[in-house]
Amino acid sequence: MSQRVKIKQILLSDRTNYEVTVKGWVRTFRNNQFIALNDGSTNNNLQVVVNEADMDPALFRRITRGAAIAVTGEIIPSLGKGQKVELKTAVLEILGDCDAEVYPIQPQKQSLEFMREIAHLRFRTNTFGAVFRIRHSLAFAVHQFFNEKGFVYLHTPIITASDAEGAGEMFRVTTLDMKKPPLNEKGEIDYKEDFFGRATNLTVSGQLEGELGAMAFGDIYTFGPTFRAENSNTARHLAEFWMIEPEMAFYELKDNMDLAEEFIKYVIRYSLEHNREDLDFLAQRLLDEEKQKPQADRSPMGLIEKLEFVLNNEFMRITYTEAIDILKNSKPNKNKKFQFPVEEWGTDLQSEHERYLVEKHFQKPVILTDYPAAIKSFYMKQNEDGKTVRAMDILFPGIGEIVGGSQREENYDKLVKRMEELQIPVEELYWYLDTRRFGTAPHAGFGLGFERLVLFVTGMTNIRDVIPFPRTPKSAEF
Ligand code: ATP
Ligand code: MN
Repeated sequence: MSQRVKIKQILLSDRTNYEVTVKGWVRTFRNNQFIALNDGSTNNNLQVVVNEADMDPALFRRITRGAAIAVTGEIIPSLGKGQKVELKTAVLEILGDCDAEVYPIQPQKQSLEFMREIAHLRFRTNTFGAVFRIRHSLAFAVHQFFNEKGFVYLHTPIITASDAEGAGEMFRVTTLDMKKPPLNEKGEIDYKEDFFGRATNLTVSGQLEGELGAMAFGDIYTFGPTFRAENSNTARHLAEFWMIEPEMAFYELKDNMDLAEEFIKYVIRYSLEHNREDLDFLAQRLLDEEKQKPQADRSPMGLIEKLEFVLNNEFMRITYTEAIDILKNSKPNKNKKFQFPVEEWGTDLQSEHERYLVEKHFQKPVILTDYPAAIKSFYMKQNEDGKTVRAMDILFPGIGEIVGGSQREENYDKLVKRMEELQIPVEELYWYLDTRRFGTAPHAGFGLGFERLVLFVTGMTNIRDVIPFPRTPKSAEF
């Protein structure tokens, strides 16, 4: 047998009349003659031509949809339409049989909902093949971007004892016997007897530890799993998701916004340059779906156009206060079309408001800054006005919030005062406060939800379809 070659490599070149071995899974078997073979390296299949007369009938019958096979033969120019080259079979071996009758993946279109039930097999479809190759590329681009800028990739802990950040409900981590947990004098569960000698949880964010890194390396980023036990069953929330959190010393809010915008554009550009085939496939898929909708509900841009639009336009930057003015005077607010009417300064923005700003009013990504302190986290830098903090959220069309970030409060006294106001345990977070005691400096950072980025780039609409094995309320299959 000659050396195994990936199908992507064969299809990329015009070369013919050479021998190869390919291995993959049968997508379809047509006219007892043409196998569409896919090995996951590309969405495109290699046409493998077999001649029934040359083959052992028992072996021939085992060429079924879903079977894993190895084929050795010659790459020749294809006579048929649709492909430049094909593989003329000399030797075909069945590596793994597949009973096509019970194989859950069928040749006709199957719903994304059904695909979630067979997430263990859905990678073998064109749609999910494309989505997860793009996801891979984006992850690679994230590391490349920060590496080129000299950021240190810092691994922050996944099990943490601090539940102070308030970013979301946490999952408890324990080895205590749930049937008979040890109790203290007050009758409460005694976590002193737990594995770590204290109560621990899965992290909701690596930011606080990330700040410690920034105050030594200057620029760091994290890229890891985060967990939120929030019972929000939406198309944009997961209980386990991946977050990218850069943290930069000597950055102020504007530097933070500039970096976030450059970063998002970089990874989108990377994907356009490296995933064109997969993006074109998903763009076509989206177009087909749009055709089912009434004209008025169709999106004005295709997937590729939408990505290029983001690259070629500056994100709109406005303050929370300006946004409230726009929303207050907006048509849907006046006509009582918002579920949550916008009345006064200080209320948190709901997703319907964010979407109005991005999709209707500005029609491009928007960075909202300087939110009321009361609706943001304790660590954000307080503005002189005594009301707002130097927060920035980036809102994307179809997604809503994709980035949440801020300049951090570097002043020890102000930070402690704010923590006390919010009843955040100051002693427990002594290690966080130490950065403000020993050589504090202005710094800033943000968190980008990786799946929300993948949603945007792939044009998928449910976050469950852009992570291999989604964890959501009442669902942790596979
Ligand atoms: P949202 O208001 O959408 O719930 P958040 O304000 O809770 O977001 P942050 O705590 O600022 O979000 O987290 C930073 C980023 O992480 C968000 O901008 C978003 O991209 C992503 N993110 C937050 N929660 C989730 C989740 N449950 N599933 C997937 N991504 C999330
Ligand atoms: Mn949230």
